[in-house]
Amino acid sequence: MERGNLFIISAPSGTGKTTILKRIIAAMTNVAFSVSHTTRLPRPGEQEGVDYYFIDKDAFAAIRQQGLFLEWAEVHGNLYGTSRSVVQAATGKGIDIILDIDVQGARQVKEKLGAEGIFVFISPPSLAELEGRLAGRSTESEAAIATRLANAKEEMKRIGQYDYVIINDEVDQAAEVLKAIIIAARSRNRRALSGEPLNLIF
Ligand code: ADP
Ligand code: 5GP
Repeated sequence: MERGNLFIISAPSGTGKTTILKRIIAAMTNVAFSVSHTTRLPRPGEQEGVDYYFIDKDAFAAIRQQGLFLEWAEVHGNLYGTSRSVVQAATGKGIDIILDIDVQGARQVKEKLGAEGIFVFISPPSLAELEGRLAGRSTESEAAIATRLANAKEEMKRIGQYDYVIINDEVDQAAEVLKAIIIAARSRNRRALSGEPLNLIF
């Protein structure tokens, strides 16, 4: 069985990444979302083990010290990390896995796994639109929105480390582009990555 693909998806907070990813998970088979650990408090409606594993700073530090995170970062004042076992379990079963992580985490995965990962950046159409979406979501205070907007400007500077860029102007269209990227990745020639010869008899 072929290993599942690893997709790394980043976007400034409020861009619409969660909205797009929920559509992809609902519309496609054999693709799963990697559930991260975070020290952030749950937002209304968020579920333990579905949206995140919500843990405190001590528990986070313990996992980090045991080397169990593939990557971790502090984002908007909270700690977030991807556990290696979540990624290995899915890809080992041939399931494509999507990591919804920030630009710092994406860089760590790129350093560790290089071309094995498929890196996708989702961009808002403009900063003004991003501000409107963050305000419209009503999940953050004004101060938290200001932090996220300031971070967005820095995150946009890292677009160069991604293989694909999707502008989330219209959700259906953006989700279709991501779906196309996932379908295309399933036909990637992995032997080109590993250097293995193709062992077919003609
Ligand atoms: P993220 O996961 O990137 O932080 P969300 O998916 O929570 O962002 O989206 C932020 C807000 O923007 C939500 O209220 C969502 O309904 C809205 N939104 C997402 N995509 C679009 C879009 N293409 N056009 C308008 N609003 C959008
Ligand atoms: P939110 O708090 O809005 O759910 O997420 C804030 C930011 O943290 C987003 O940019 C999201 O991609 C990022 N994030 C979520 N999980 C992880 C993770 O496991 N690692 C890293 N590096 N970033 C994460």
